[in-house]
Amino acid sequence: MSFVPPRCPRLECPFHLEPEGQFYRLRGFYRVRCRRQPIPRFQCRGCGRSFSRQTFRTDYRDRKPQTNERVLQMLCSGVGLRQIGRTVGLDIHSVQGKLRKYGRQAALLHDNLCTRLPSGRTFVLDEEETFECKSIRRLTVPMLVDNETWFLVATAVGSIRRLAVTGSRRWHDQQLEEAKVGPRPDESRQRVAEVMQALARRVGEGSLTLRSDEKALYRVLAREQFGDRVRHETTPGTDPRTADNPLFVINVTITMSRDNCGRLRRNSWLVSKKADRLRRHLGLFTVYRNYVRRRFNRDKPKESAAKLLGLLPRALTWREASRWRQDWGERSIHPMSVTGRVTVGQHDSVRSTSVAPCLPAV
Ligand SMILES: [Zn+2]
Repeated sequence: MSFVPPRCPRLECPFHLEPEGQFYRLRGFYRVRCRRQPIPRFQCRGCGRSFSRQTFRTDYRDRKPQTNERVLQMLCSGVGLRQIGRTVGLDIHSVQGKLRKYGRQAALLHDNLCTRLPSGRTFVLDEEETFECKSIRRLTVPMLVDNETWFLVATAVGSIRRLAVTGSRRWHDQQLEEAKVGPRPDESRQRVAEVMQALARRVGEGSLTLRSDEKALYRVLAREQFGDRVRHETTPGTDPRTADNPLFVINVTITMSRDNCGRLRRNSWLVSKKADRLRRHLGLFTVYRNYVRRRFNRDKPKESAAKLLGLLPRALTWREASRWRQDWGERSIHPMSVTGRVTVGQHDSVRSTSVAPCLPAV
């Protein structure tokens, strides 16, 4: 199916916000070595600037775009960046570049697709601990999950300070480092508040239940963020981590993140060198967990967490999830749109008026 530009890509052009009728004219095609099909080129009738289908795609200016899908699959399969490069024939720096670019796009896609969550649901919160480069540079990774669908609502990454045992080698390293750069900042409060704000934006004025361990900070922040709308249930962190534990969902999600993101594995040389790269990687993990993977292995193949929450009619493939750029909010093209005609915002309205389990091809 041929591509239809949904708007002028220039933000300053009037046809970006309100594209009218045939706001563009076709200006031929061009060929690139990495694609068999020619790429259509257009010219805007408003601003006169030209653009092509690639302007709307995430793989715009990518080298070897045919490797993207495999790279993304492997980034969420616990494979290290160098091994991914060796397997698909890319340099390590290319894999790093794809991780940065697609990690950012994945976070935007999640924001665009999940703008609202139904009220009255139960969410589970906990923090995972890891480090960047050295084990004395600790990081906290708060995660917030829907208890029923296992939908990962939000993650964040922040530095924390953990004092090593006095006199140990790590303690000496820590002393030397702190003498140079000062004490490591503790961002636990800000990052936990960040994931709660992400949940608050999505549930609006609705009520909810929040489950967590007994850390006092969670109670304070939940009260600050949700007031009386939240019912906060706590479970001692020392309780056996079985399927009967009320925190089972978050415990498994954290374990799964260690399996899927190699950089979160303990005692591994894949460990993150920079917190920002972990943030990008978690963006990919969120999309994989919510929109690409089915919730449980026993579920039907296309039953993702997002489908169970009613956000999408089925699970996405990595090709769909990484197809269109997502930096225009609800004006971005919907990942399920083949021609580019339907945006994320329009898809929302199509979905709310349709009771059909599958949407028409758009
Ligand atoms: Zn224009």
